[in-house]
Amino acid sequence: MSSELIDTDISLEKFVRVNIHFIQKSDGTGNFTETSDGFGNDFNGYNVSMEMLHWINTKDNQTLNIPPDHSLIKYPINIKFVLDAVYFHQSDELYPNSFNSNCNDTYSTNSSEVMQCYMRGDGVSDHANNISSTSLNKYISLKQLVNRYSSWINNMENDNYSWFQHSTYGTTQHELYHLLTLSHTVRYNSGPPCPTDDSSACNDGCDDTPTPFEMVNDYNFTGNSTSISEPFCGWGNGNVHWCSNNRMDYSGSGALSPCQLERMHSSIDNGLDAFRLCKRLNGTNQLCSFSFPQISYYGSIVTIGGANCLDIPSSTDTPIVNSSNISQVFASQEVEINELEVKQGGYFEIFTSYSCN
Ligand SMILES: [Zn+2]
Repeated sequence: MSSELIDTDISLEKFVRVNIHFIQKSDGTGNFTETSDGFGNDFNGYNVSMEMLHWINTKDNQTLNIPPDHSLIKYPINIKFVLDAVYFHQSDELYPNSFNSNCNDTYSTNSSEVMQCYMRGDGVSDHANNISSTSLNKYISLKQLVNRYSSWINNMENDNYSWFQHSTYGTTQHELYHLLTLSHTVRYNSGPPCPTDDSSACNDGCDDTPTPFEMVNDYNFTGNSTSISEPFCGWGNGNVHWCSNNRMDYSGSGALSPCQLERMHSSIDNGLDAFRLCKRLNGTNQLCSFSFPQISYYGSIVTIGGANCLDIPSSTDTPIVNSSNISQVFASQEVEINELEVKQGGYFEIFTSYSCN
């Protein structure tokens, strides 16, 4: 393990808050909307956001392919993402995914506590804005969701939906892990592999994730002997035993080393702790209504409905969750429900977690 890491408990599950922003063209097309997938189906931006985070949060760690013959433990990831809110914006200028037109300058919301995710149209590769362990300005920008979903819609009979999820949601997970300080392990940024030397530019701060240079020199690795770029084997090759299947490379596989997990947990415990769910689970919170764009509600003790909700009649059948709403309540001590009706098609769930204040 790298000596810069501060002691942290990677067995303690940690939750990081994220916002998802859908950038549409100015006429409202090109992306998921509040009510549809952009292709006339009911599966909407809220639904795909919830589905994506559920996919990421339930993904198990995998056994690392490299270094060869290692005895590294496959620890559970124990890092989960909480959907704080979902936003929809219309901008022809910001719809294309571009480094130069920065959605974050225009649309970031609650950015010192919530990491921002921008789902945009075609453009440059998916990216994360920094890997700093102390920055309170964190966002990712992706074109994958729009492109892969439309590709799946257009080839539905031939394409597997799980492949759309695997490629899109896995990429989102990869970018979020950049925000939690991880670098690539076998390529430097999106450039060439790291085969030429063991430069600091190719050092991800983890001794248990060898670069191609280290594979050749420390492990006498010859790969397929055609290229020193191995073990960077590209998309879909994570099942080849000498190819990296690390989540931070480009195979699409999801393995993480003990050091990588320690890096992320340590950053969440320390410089990035403002983004944690547990910071919000303090104090009392009385909720009289649930409304978009907010998805998640927080408190130590949360009361839903009741006498102090002036706008709500006292009859128990008064709906305070409307038919299309998606809401989740997080509390560290208790949730008291005085009145609540979740209509058909709505989603409401209560979670208990720990406070870290
Ligand atoms: Zn990356």
